[in-house]
Amino acid sequence: MPELPEVETVRRTLIELVAGKTVERVTVSLPRIIQRPAEPEQFADLLAGRTILTVERRGKFLRLLLDGLTLVSHLRMEGRYGLYRSGEPVEKHTHVIFHFTDGTELRYRDVRQFGTMHLFAPGEEFESPPLNKLGLEPLEESFTLDELRKLLGGRPGPIKPLLLNQAYVVGLGNIYADEALFSAGIHPERPADSLKKDEWERLYAAIRGTLARAVEAGGSSIKSYVNGQGEMGMFQHSLLVYGRKNEPCPRCGSAIEKTVLGGRGTHYCHICQPPLRGKRSAQRSGARKAR
Ligand code: ZN
Repeated sequence: MPELPEVETVRRTLIELVAGKTVERVTVSLPRIIQRPAEPEQFADLLAGRTILTVERRGKFLRLLLDGLTLVSHLRMEGRYGLYRSGEPVEKHTHVIFHFTDGTELRYRDVRQFGTMHLFAPGEEFESPPLNKLGLEPLEESFTLDELRKLLGGRPGPIKPLLLNQAYVVGLGNIYADEALFSAGIHPERPADSLKKDEWERLYAAIRGTLARAVEAGGSSIKSYVNGQGEMGMFQHSLLVYGRKNEPCPRCGSAIEKTVLGGRGTHYCHICQPPLRGKRSAQRSGARKAR
């Protein structure tokens, strides 16, 4: 699933591909992708004649800003955009086509069919789902060490699922949460309220650093992720622990471990990311055994 860096890469690519183009008409062949308005015909009618001004991002959502409308698009598992000339054969799993007045088409393909599109009047997208409950943008100035501690520091749950919760901090998914926790030297099961001041500092720096480096690299290509140009992602795999079960830790050489936490595969080094020791962790593991 694309995370912040991948969506950011798609955003930047989409600007290059479609900014300034005017929608002539829209074809929807899988109505369930269109979440708002309720009728795909209305979705198409609203978009006809509008020009795409730019593309922005909120968390893992793309915001296509048109004159007088905002299209909010989430790629979910495997959604992807590509620009084609009209008349080029339409590939399987193409669900929405934006036909432009210049004879090109932006096509949305989605094998898993989990992606969504919502249309709003400009600005209204922030008042309703899916954007209204999103947390801090980790690469913006509003995301500070103090804000991170304020949001998560009092919570007794394990830190990794808290990092995945988009209501606190947006953009981190399973891959970059594991990478950030490794960089910070924090065990993914550590209760958030057990983290010390220096650990919050390391975690804050690791979240920003991990995401910024991945954005720089163009996002890491996982499985069938494809960038907005319809080309297979050619990004560097620079992941340190994610997907590296049993490989040597890049820092200490111990085997990377994989466990399941909150239903998600979780990679870590038990030496570089030590579990919480002492009374509290003994109580916790006791509680786990009892269950
Ligand atoms: Zn290690």
